[in-house]
Amino acid sequence: MKKAILIFLCSALLLSGCQSTAGSVQSSGAPPSQQPSAPPSAEPNAPAARQTDSPSLPVSGDTPSGDGFQKEMSVNHPFRLSAACMGNGGYYLMNEGYLYYMEAASGRMVLLCGKPECDHSDPVSCNAWANTKFLTFYDGKLWYTNSDAFHDSRLTLCTMAPDGSDHRDVQCLMTQEDFVGWSAADFEPMLWNGEIYFILQDKRVCKNRIGGEPEDNVTLFTLDATDKLKWNWRFWADGDSAYVMCIYMDKNGYYQAALTLLGDSPTDTREIWHSASYTRVGEDVEFYLNGVDKFPFYITGGHLYYLATGAFWDVDLTTGAETKLAEVSGNQALFTDDAMYLYSAPDRTIAVYGLDGTQRGAVSLSPIYAAYDNISSCDPVFADGGMFYLLCYRGSYLSVTSSLYRIDTATGEVLELRDWPATNQEPPQQNSGEILIGAGL
Ligand SMILES: [Zn+2]
Repeated sequence: MKKAILIFLCSALLLSGCQSTAGSVQSSGAPPSQQPSAPPSAEPNAPAARQTDSPSLPVSGDTPSGDGFQKEMSVNHPFRLSAACMGNGGYYLMNEGYLYYMEAASGRMVLLCGKPECDHSDPVSCNAWANTKFLTFYDGKLWYTNSDAFHDSRLTLCTMAPDGSDHRDVQCLMTQEDFVGWSAADFEPMLWNGEIYFILQDKRVCKNRIGGEPEDNVTLFTLDATDKLKWNWRFWADGDSAYVMCIYMDKNGYYQAALTLLGDSPTDTREIWHSASYTRVGEDVEFYLNGVDKFPFYITGGHLYYLATGAFWDVDLTTGAETKLAEVSGNQALFTDDAMYLYSAPDRTIAVYGLDGTQRGAVSLSPIYAAYDNISSCDPVFADGGMFYLLCYRGSYLSVTSSLYRIDTATGEVLELRDWPATNQEPPQQNSGEILIGAGL
């Protein structure tokens, strides 16, 4: 096993509070020789069968957040890990339409299908198939949405049991008239306090109670798209308030973000914050998800925290007062209720800041690049409990081959989660002669 030296960097400002540590890339799961063999199915992308030493499928309905909205899990949606949520003692992660359960403590993963006869190649029958951008845990069940052909292309709210069994359609969120035409849903609905918030194809922002009929949808407002070239949405909830952030490119090519406080009706729904105009948001992703989803923000305690133009900002949503907390290097971030984790691709670091703008330390990602020489880009996934989860594409941008890492920001340990199904995913044939698979780790 190739070892790499891990360097735990301390901020020059915080030397007294940090200790240097040295280590290596750790690896969860079985070594390559014990990785599960390919399933018997002829489907090239069917997920691998369960390993005998994989964690058990979760059965408990307990959930860390009772209201259905999981802040920490709602920050980023990498293309190849399009949905994630917390369960009891672990996380549910989506890759290529299939759900996996990861034990938080061990980092081990298991495909969320316990059917002994299933080869996981048939989306109709495999328990693990959900193919959604929306995933949360509420009332003892996993919730997701789907608008595939089996749902007549209409956005439908669905549930399954914590172990992936018992898929059920709860309600369709679109009337026949609401269906304008097929399009990929580029937003994540929000389930919060017994209601579901979502966007219809004619740009209406709506909510409905769980179990309601589509005729009961309440339209809170309609996006005025006359001055916008493209846009994306992110719902949020904090305290007693629900919000939606609209991130858009205006007709002059500038990016802006607008935060709307969502009430129970149009009369108590209003825009409460509007950003400056930026020449760009994020650092890439022009060609998927409208290219405007990389606006890192987080709302907690009535404050909006966001990252823009090389700075970390704090907005008091009650007074509107806006404060620049710190000048920073990096333009992708994850948040929790007490920290911002700033990912800098050029520096290959994750810097940790308190929500007062104080830098607490930084972790080097150099072990990742030492272990694989074909890392093309990395995308933050979520942060929880001081752990930062990072998805790194190998071979090409948005490659089907990727490695998932758990980085302990307190100790600097970098753990590669070897059960991640895309770790050993074969790249497309036309690229196979050019891509080096880092199987020598
Ligand atoms: Zn299956």
